[in-house]
Amino acid sequence: MSLNELDQLRNRVDELNLQLLHAINERAKLVQEIGRVKEGLYRYDPVRERKMLDHIKENNDGPFEDSTIEHIFKEIFKAGLELQKDDHRKALLVSRKKKPEDTVIDLKGEKIGNGNPSFIFGPCAVESYEQVATVAKAVKDKGFQLLRGGAYKPRTSPYDFQGLGVEGLKILKRVADEYDMAVISEIVSPNQIETALNYIDVIQIGARNMQNFELLKAAGATNKPVLLKRGLAATIEEFINAAEYIMSQGNGQIILCERGIRTYERATRNTLDISAVPILKQETHLPVLVDVTHSTGRRDLLLPAAKAALAIGADGVMAEVHPDPAVALSDSAQQMDLNQFDKFINDLKSASFVHI
Ligand code: PEP
Ligand code: MN
Repeated sequence: MSLNELDQLRNRVDELNLQLLHAINERAKLVQEIGRVKEGLYRYDPVRERKMLDHIKENNDGPFEDSTIEHIFKEIFKAGLELQKDDHRKALLVSRKKKPEDTVIDLKGEKIGNGNPSFIFGPCAVESYEQVATVAKAVKDKGFQLLRGGAYKPRTSPYDFQGLGVEGLKILKRVADEYDMAVISEIVSPNQIETALNYIDVIQIGARNMQNFELLKAAGATNKPVLLKRGLAATIEEFINAAEYIMSQGNGQIILCERGIRTYERATRNTLDISAVPILKQETHLPVLVDVTHSTGRRDLLLPAAKAALAIGADGVMAEVHPDPAVALSDSAQQMDLNQFDKFINDLKSASFVHI
């Protein structure tokens, strides 16, 4: 083949590329027109798609095989369907595209996401009034006012301590009132929400429930802030979409919490995906916290993980504190005792980039 012949063939391919481009854009315009005619109706029509594909295949004389042609046209159909979606469907409500300014959440005067780091401390589970009050006093003495504690504990084994339920919520509320703190506690079922609203200031949705869509919608229908934790094996996209479930119901007060994901690594309880923090900050307008307890599962890593979180731009840190972790009913290996908590705060404060 002469070079000249090759050039000619390539020129024809270039021309056909432009014809194809023209044809698929012409098609796209018609699809948009159909979208307008079908306004308000469900747009995906598999019966119509099947007829179109059959018709195309009947007319296929090759050399492409039918399966290849079907694949190419399916992509064109999909792109057309995307085009028909309303603009508001394209940009998620939680996205920065939709709202460029940071969302700041006010919890009894503590502003999460305003540029100053926020801290949430408290035991893994509420075990007794004395236990919660002891931790609350230590946390408050350090100048913090967000208190956590689980009243409903989603445990791996059904035979492990499941939490004190409403009794636990009452303890949290009593302690929070006494120490003038705001309470964050996990809710595991939509039908607990109504009762829980009387006792807590933030609804926590735990990692195991990140894709419990009914729970997300129920939390989204309240006007309480929601702290949403990343699922055990959730991608960032799934995490963002879970937040969108909440916001789509009208509740925009959402705090995202990276708490580590499950990987093959066994040196830590989970793998802290620290890069998720700046990604979530870029992609969404929501505050992002890092739970250093559940992500590392190791007391010796709480401080470096907290420093890393703040250095990379997290809006705050969550960690578990217990008066006597050795006898804790859950997560006894990783909660800080009060001396460790004291040291944790002092060491964190001495990091040059941390302004508490
Ligand atoms: C918790 O914070 O109490 C908890 C159970 O964490 P996670 O849902 O992240 O495992
Ligand atoms: Mn825990």
